[in-house]
Amino acid sequence: MDIKVDALMLRAVDYGENDKILTLLTADCGKLTAGIKGVKKAGAKLRFAAQPFCLAEYMLSGRGGRYTVTGASESESFYDLRCDINKFYAASALCEAASALTPEGENSPRMFVYCAEGLRDMCVGDEGFALIKFLVRALSLSGYGFSAGTCSECGAELCNEQKLRFDMPSGTFTCWDCGTGSGVSGSTYAVLRAAEGRPCGDVTEDGKKRALRLLREYFTLKTDGRCLSLSEYLRLL
Ligand SMILES: [Zn+2]
Repeated sequence: MDIKVDALMLRAVDYGENDKILTLLTADCGKLTAGIKGVKKAGAKLRFAAQPFCLAEYMLSGRGGRYTVTGASESESFYDLRCDINKFYAASALCEAASALTPEGENSPRMFVYCAEGLRDMCVGDEGFALIKFLVRALSLSGYGFSAGTCSECGAELCNEQKLRFDMPSGTFTCWDCGTGSGVSGSTYAVLRAAEGRPCGDVTEDGKKRALRLLREYFTLKTDGRCLSLSEYLRLL
């Protein structure tokens, strides 16, 4: 059976001498694995389809979850993400997180949209903030959402000028006196609020770094997996 899917190439692993196995996040069929033949040969026609961050319409042939890519037509290459080391690792972290947060066999059209939007944002602007925004949305979509709005204990609106706590297991923020979680800096809180589209204080470089460290810890706790590209990206900052 042949199918056509709009998909983002999340991961490519070498297979045999010239082939690769791709992990594709599709718009309509969730996450799929598909082999692609001969793409390591110079001049291979479908070489682009196995490149990082390739967004394309893939033609797949196969059944029972075993697919082979028979053709592809590129929609966006996100080429800029492959020319800048910081952008490359931020985009790799996005793909790694999307893959971990999308179980195989589960349809997730919104995850596909969040990925495409996140990569577009990274191409044209601040890749760190785009990654934070993606992680906040993707975690929420997967049932690990948190809200940087009000104190989960007393309900008071929180702001970045007060001392705050974040409780990792429940994903909630509290006033300092209301909770027992770890302390969170005002700069971190301002960035997370900005990522949720809420009014916030200044978004600083330091705040973005801290927010990414917090999200890394939260992601690891919730998914039981590490996002290695995110650690690489943090090392570059
Ligand atoms: Zn409170």
